[in-house]
Amino acid sequence: MWMAFPGPEAFALSSLGFLWMFKSLDEAEDINIEAIYQDTLSTLIQPNCVNMIGFSFSFDMDFFTIFSILDKYKIPLKVSKRDKNSPLIFAGGPVITANPMPYVDFFDFFIIGDGEDLNLEVARLVKANMSKSKLEILTLLSEIDGVYVPSVNKNKPVKKITKALSECIYTPIISENSFFKNTFILEVERGCANRCGFCLASYLNLPVRFVSYGDIISTLELGLKYTNSIALLGAQITAHPRFKDICNYIFEKIKDGKKIKMSISSMRVDAFCPEVVRTLVAAGQKNTTLAIEAGSERLRRVINKNLTEEQIFNAISIARENGLKGFKFYGMIGLPTETYEDLAEMVTLAKRIKNKYKGFDISFGFSSFVPKPNTPFQWFGREDTKSLEKKVLFLKKELHKLGIKSQFSSVKWDYYQAVLSRGDEKLGGFILDAYKNGSSLGALKNSAKKNLIDTDYYALENYSYDKTLPWNFIEIKPGKEFLVAESKRLLDASNQKIGV
Ligand code: SF4
Repeated sequence: MWMAFPGPEAFALSSLGFLWMFKSLDEAEDINIEAIYQDTLSTLIQPNCVNMIGFSFSFDMDFFTIFSILDKYKIPLKVSKRDKNSPLIFAGGPVITANPMPYVDFFDFFIIGDGEDLNLEVARLVKANMSKSKLEILTLLSEIDGVYVPSVNKNKPVKKITKALSECIYTPIISENSFFKNTFILEVERGCANRCGFCLASYLNLPVRFVSYGDIISTLELGLKYTNSIALLGAQITAHPRFKDICNYIFEKIKDGKKIKMSISSMRVDAFCPEVVRTLVAAGQKNTTLAIEAGSERLRRVINKNLTEEQIFNAISIARENGLKGFKFYGMIGLPTETYEDLAEMVTLAKRIKNKYKGFDISFGFSSFVPKPNTPFQWFGREDTKSLEKKVLFLKKELHKLGIKSQFSSVKWDYYQAVLSRGDEKLGGFILDAYKNGSSLGALKNSAKKNLIDTDYYALENYSYDKTLPWNFIEIKPGKEFLVAESKRLLDASNQKIGV
């Protein structure tokens, strides 16, 4: 079996999910597994010696790299072109769990949800049935909860698998060649209870699960035997009920003379307390990030990020008093109901921070809103590209005037992300041609024309609440009724109407 990462080896060696899944299969004596990457070549040049290839699929555009890996080993890209000797090709990860439909032509099956334990069950089932035909094996696989086999399941409901965090997951390989050099990454919690209306990381991972304090500390000690560089991971790690204790534990070790370099994936504004910040500073962190998403309190209410300006100022004060040198703020443009007033408030906020905290380094990073399946904003289309580009220019110019650096994701690429994110099975030909013609923006545009795909329908249109969405057959809690109610509640906070 191959486990494939659609990116360079350095990124795979920093990917906790990928490495942990590899570990669980590698430890099984009855499974012979090898990891393959975009930039390496397997020792087995003949893919027919491999029975299964599993791809990790975390970002919408990963399909380009997945196709290039299949091409490298001369494996036909489409399921229909592969013969009985071709390995079974499957994928799992957040993109697939949210909506596998655009990719059904290319994979024999999908893993829906947390794959850590499921991968092993799947590999063992395939191994035990190697004498059977592919169709027989796929039929058996389709009976496992969390496995979706497009050729067998059709639109039968498929249950998303949610793993209990009964242990602390960590990177079993610490490498010089990793993107995060020699860093031991451990998972502190999974999911985020904040439920921002656009946030897939939150909605795909409900309920939020925390690793026990004891497990975190013993795993941390394991990592510190091999490296002094530690990263704590989770969508909302500062919400861990014992986060302060974890920080205090690390702080005491540093005070006792242990050299520890620590980074954390994200900070919540109410987590800015002296204990946490002094630990970050003692562990070498100079700056941190804070996602505020929107400039005005009105829009932050609409997206469910109920964050006041006072809380933001308070966080900066604590950060500065305890030794942090700067903040990078993350925001999103084009959120449902956003107007130029909201953007202007972002600029005003930046100005106030700049004036109040002289010498404190601030910068901004922005992406544009992409509607994601299984979130309360799945029904809302994007703003069109030209109008978003104008907003980018406005913010860039205004922040530049204040001497504040800002970075923006590509609005054009975000548009195609939205097409795929709300895509259906009709997109197979479109993505295949886009890959064959260079995997560029131009290739995506031309391919849409050639395949008669109305990309605006997927990216820009508002959908009605009673529309059957391509991913509705995937059963994810809390379910459609909750999402509709939440979507309406958030819109009520906007004092504006959206036709959905
Ligand atoms: S706070 Fe961050 S991780 Fe949590 S729901 Fe909002 S955007 Fe997602």
